[in-house]
Amino acid sequence: MSLADRLRRMIAAQGPIPVSDYMALANAHYYATRDPLGAAGDFTTAPEISQMFGELVGLALADLWDRSGRPEGARYVELGPGRGTLAADALRAMRAAGLEPQVHLVETSLVLRAAQAERVPHARWHDDLHSLPEDGPILAVANEFFDALPVRQLVATDTGWRERLVTLDGDRFVPAAGPPVPGAAIPDPVRAAPPGTLLETSPASLAYARLLAYRVSRQGGGALIVDYGHDRASAGETLQAVRRHGYADPWIEPGEADLTAHVDFEALGRAAAEAGLRVHGPVAQGDWLARLGIDARTEALARAAPQRSDDLRTARDRLVSPGQMGRLFRVMGLSAPAWPAPEGFS
Ligand code: SAH
Repeated sequence: MSLADRLRRMIAAQGPIPVSDYMALANAHYYATRDPLGAAGDFTTAPEISQMFGELVGLALADLWDRSGRPEGARYVELGPGRGTLAADALRAMRAAGLEPQVHLVETSLVLRAAQAERVPHARWHDDLHSLPEDGPILAVANEFFDALPVRQLVATDTGWRERLVTLDGDRFVPAAGPPVPGAAIPDPVRAAPPGTLLETSPASLAYARLLAYRVSRQGGGALIVDYGHDRASAGETLQAVRRHGYADPWIEPGEADLTAHVDFEALGRAAAEAGLRVHGPVAQGDWLARLGIDARTEALARAAPQRSDDLRTARDRLVSPGQMGRLFRVMGLSAPAWPAPEGFS
């Protein structure tokens, strides 16, 4: 039975389900049943565009470790590593900088774990952050991970704010206003918004950010979070389905398209700061890559392989230019209290 049919049965038997449950079940199925990355898949990410992305992530983390006095027992931690491309590129750059951390990959999809094992055979895998080792500094990265975690949708109605649920109209999935939510759950700036206004929050993302921040603050280290999203919390719907490199309807064929929502960096930063971390940025991905030296790296690679120089410059532009990924994608840095600030944020 397809996931859509299972969800139809579930809703028919138990009633409407929260948007966050719908998104969580859809993405769990989606990632468990395919490798979605690359030209033949549904979307392409920065590390799949160019090795330079992962290399610069690796160099930024190695530099942080170096300036903190090269502590023993460092651990590379990646959340949602996809095909393992970023990890492989980052670890190669780290090795060149004298750092060979133990590798811990947080990944729930067995299909993607298998892809990661081809590129990073010596890694250890985790279902979530709880099982990470409790000693050794953590050098963490998450690229396009948080956008895949479920969001709750709250909708303003004439009778106050309500949680949005997914119900059935015949065979079709449709969103509908559900039970009231307490006003205290709604941030001040949007509490008086007109009926129809949507607000998204991601308790799952905040739980991840809190746990990561708690570990980094206790064990030392830092983290880089890269994703599309907004620097300040704001109202509006950003839930979308991505399929075959275009947008699709999130209410059709759950589990067959990638469901994503913009990341609320303000909320992630607040969660990290509450756990005692220092928060850097977010800044535009293009600015961050430029400060870390992507132009020099592009030219060095182009000199070494002149036949690839056009491809390298095209890839650099995709990552950096404001009209492509350079502005929409944001980079936030986190660092343990006794550690230096990561490069690239000012
Ligand atoms: N970082 C990679 C892949 C991004 S796609 C890249 O940049 O190419 C999202 C990744 O997060 C996939 O590896 C997916 O399997 C993983 N993922 C999604 N939800 C997850 C969850 N709840 N727990 C752990 N991993 C998850």
